[in-house]
Amino acid sequence: MTLVEPLYAEILRRNRGEHEFHQAVREVLETLDPVLERRPELVDARIIERLCEPERQLIFRVPWMDDSGDIHVNRGFRVEFSSVLGPYKGGLRFHPSVNLGIVKFLGFEQIFKNALTGMPIGGGKGGSDFDPKGRSDAEIMRFCQSFMTELHRHIGEYTDVPAGDIGVGGREIGYLFGQYRRITNRHESGVLTGKGVTWGGSQARTEATGYGCVLFTAEMLRSRGESLDGQTVAVSGSGNVAIYAIEKAQQLGATVVTCSDSDGYVVDEKGIDLDLLKEIKEVRRGRIAEYAERRGAHARFVPGTGVWDVRCDAALPCATQNELTEEDARTLVRNGVKAVAEGANMPTTPEAVRVFQEAAVAFAPGKAANAGGVATSALEMQQNASRDSWTFAYTEERLAQIMRHIHDSCYTTAERYGAPGNYVVGANIAGFEMVADAMLAQGLI
Ligand code: GLU
Repeated sequence: MTLVEPLYAEILRRNRGEHEFHQAVREVLETLDPVLERRPELVDARIIERLCEPERQLIFRVPWMDDSGDIHVNRGFRVEFSSVLGPYKGGLRFHPSVNLGIVKFLGFEQIFKNALTGMPIGGGKGGSDFDPKGRSDAEIMRFCQSFMTELHRHIGEYTDVPAGDIGVGGREIGYLFGQYRRITNRHESGVLTGKGVTWGGSQARTEATGYGCVLFTAEMLRSRGESLDGQTVAVSGSGNVAIYAIEKAQQLGATVVTCSDSDGYVVDEKGIDLDLLKEIKEVRRGRIAEYAERRGAHARFVPGTGVWDVRCDAALPCATQNELTEEDARTLVRNGVKAVAEGANMPTTPEAVRVFQEAAVAFAPGKAANAGGVATSALEMQQNASRDSWTFAYTEERLAQIMRHIHDSCYTTAERYGAPGNYVVGANIAGFEMVADAMLAQGLI
């Protein structure tokens, strides 16, 4: 990171305390020296300085009333990072940990992830420090309505297209879309993605992030002459990404033995019973401790964060940032893990990534491995723009093609830059070059 070291120091100085943003920027910058050495015009045009400064950052008040009449005030965010390849695109996260640094890390990642999909979408992210846990449907609706009452003036199908992320799923997108429609008096389906399939949503969008992550893992294994069939897989998380990663891994013949939530993890030696997990998580919005109680003697619930102690051939971190530490990585390597793919955004700490790379484990960063979600959002936008709706099979095939394309462009870019098999280098450089070339072409903006 010689060429970019002074730039990084300046980013630290100007964005104090935003640790996750620093981490995300550093992780990209430290792979870019070979491109900048070959292409001095990118240095002269100050591409990195421009890319690391969001085009626009919005912070707003979100007041709402709970069921007992008490008033709460949350903070809303939308960071519109880059629109050079298309309208800002990225999810909304509702979680008490959300702050500007978290939204900027997610928005920054989103620029490169979205570029890698090959679809015409820019990068952005938003959310709130609102905690949906334990809130009634009516409270969630009032919060979403208040959030959209402010956000609506900043978004639009050609401007900025939010979607879900942690704490924002189909229910929340419904309430957000309803309020947007009411305020603007427009049924503008392309303004949000992740909608219900009867009112402009896409088939396979719900499944897409988890499915895509497993398809990417299968591609990595294929390039090493292996497959997922018959392998043991460990998954963390039990939200949308985890559930559909488990589903696709099972379809490809793997046995998935774990899932987790913030209380602990489940180990199920016979393989996760997905109907039971979906019933607990998607229908009842419950906790996974209940899964072990209802599943029988071969499943157990273990409190705490030890999910990576469970032996597996492939590990799919699908919970949240920095959940897989250096120590976890050492345990996984000791237990013979062959592939790790990030279903969540930046779940692996930089030290843990290094452990995997030194052990020659196939490691896929989130901006490549979890891009299937946003790619299918772009397919949803495409269907909305043409007032069409595609079948599940067709949409899933498009997703599979996109994941293969992302895999191959990361793979060949890594080779081209002298780092064969290094998907971090491949994803960062392939995404960066696409964005940088478009920025050069469009002038000093
Ligand atoms: N939140 C998802 C992500 O991290 C999806 C965003 C979208 O569909 O716009 O990529």
